[in-house]
Amino acid sequence: MIIVGGGLGGLLAAARASREHKVTLFERAPCLGGRFRNIEHDGHVLTTGALHMVPHGSTGPLGRMLSSVGANVRIVDSRPWGRFLVDGRVMRLSEIRRSLPRRERLNAAVLVARMRLGAGPDRPVDEFLSSLFKTPVVHDAARAVLGWSLSCTPSDVPATELYGIVKNIFRYGGPGVPMGGCGAVVDALRGVLERNGVAIRHERVNRINVDDGAVCGVETGEGTYEDDIVVSDVGIKQTIGLCPSGTFERPFVDVVKSLSESGGIKINVSTKDSLLDHTGVLFPLNTQRVEGVNQVTNVDPSLAPEGRHLVMFHQTLRGKRIRSEAERGLEDIETLMGDRRFEVLCVQSYFGKNPVNRAAAGHDFDPSLPVRGLYAVGDSVKDVGGIEVDGIALGVEKMWGAMKRKMQKVGDS
Ligand SMILES: Cc1cc2nc3c(=O)[nH]c(=O)nc-3n(C[C@H](O)[C@H](O)[C@H](O)COP(=O)(O)OP(=O)(O)OC[C@H]3O[C@@H](n4cnc5c(N)ncnc54)[C@H](O)[C@@H]3O)c2cc1C
Repeated sequence: MIIVGGGLGGLLAAARASREHKVTLFERAPCLGGRFRNIEHDGHVLTTGALHMVPHGSTGPLGRMLSSVGANVRIVDSRPWGRFLVDGRVMRLSEIRRSLPRRERLNAAVLVARMRLGAGPDRPVDEFLSSLFKTPVVHDAARAVLGWSLSCTPSDVPATELYGIVKNIFRYGGPGVPMGGCGAVVDALRGVLERNGVAIRHERVNRINVDDGAVCGVETGEGTYEDDIVVSDVGIKQTIGLCPSGTFERPFVDVVKSLSESGGIKINVSTKDSLLDHTGVLFPLNTQRVEGVNQVTNVDPSLAPEGRHLVMFHQTLRGKRIRSEAERGLEDIETLMGDRRFEVLCVQSYFGKNPVNRAAAGHDFDPSLPVRGLYAVGDSVKDVGGIEVDGIALGVEKMWGAMKRKMQKVGDS
């Protein structure tokens, strides 16, 4: 089997498949990990993308998949999962709920029960919530939580997806931080791949070859590699771009082309003066842009030089004016940090070809593409309600199931 791309999706797929198949993985960059990789910056461990968090912690889909493939990573579950900063006061979700008028408190209780059991209505989250809640704090909290976890606004996310997310939270629990950050996950997976004999080639795939409706391999600058199964981790748009023109029917291509990504800005701050006294996320509700903050050094102090904290602020990218969006985020940080001394290490923006998600939440594709032997994994193929890397793990599991069923069918016939 050939895997194109060594981001988290490609690495998980390779780890899963290499117990039973001979696998060759192609990664164009000199390092594995894609947007889930550590980068060193002035003694701090920053990342190429992620905020060093795993949405469902040690017992979520990623944690389980890492254990099942033999990747040894310690994920420390966040305590608490999160807190809200409302008008200068740190509040629990239950306190916000208690602060609502009686009718809305009742609506909240009924809504949570419905979310656990049923499928959500087919309308955007903001519209749906407006029919139940008039109190602004509910909408501000939804904006912050969806912005932090999905880089989407409540008008971007279908309520069906929100229901899926809430179900997964009840099923798997809240976030966690891997000791050693994202890089520890990538290193552990690389170890599994090496032990399982996966051939890792640092070559850019220029073309996925297709013959008579079936994949037959890939081409790189170094040569042609044949295989009748290709799993792509480079995003749906890029995957169809690598196939010969005319491979896919027009309606499918049109749907893929209309796919919208989600963008974001992450601001990395170093401080001696701690901002958070817990290992979860702080959702500030009265900001212009910043939707969430974590202080990962509360879990793993080695992610910053001794005596310092690494604090990461995240905001959804609204529009294309990156500089002015980042400036508003920086103004929020000034306010949130108060009289603490801090240093902005670096501002990272994610959009276009390097987004937060290649498919905005709720718009993911099925991993079986309409060409025999061609599958997709990664952040445009997450399963319903799958948040970020836990969604990627769910997507890999779904891809694996689909592939096995197809192989079984071929075997039977
Ligand atoms: C600001 C930000 C914060 C985030 N925070 C979190 C978080 O805290 N927790 C979380 O769970 N998720 C988070 N995410 C999301 C998470 O980082 C991504 O969902 C995940 O890393 C995507 O993995 P992937 O495998 O789909 O894609 P990628 O990581 O993009 O991997 C794709 C790989 O394919 C390679 N490639 C591309 N084209 C080719 C080619 N032609 N040939 C060979 N190789 C190729 C690329 O070099 C890359 O390595 C965050 C993302 C961002 C941007």
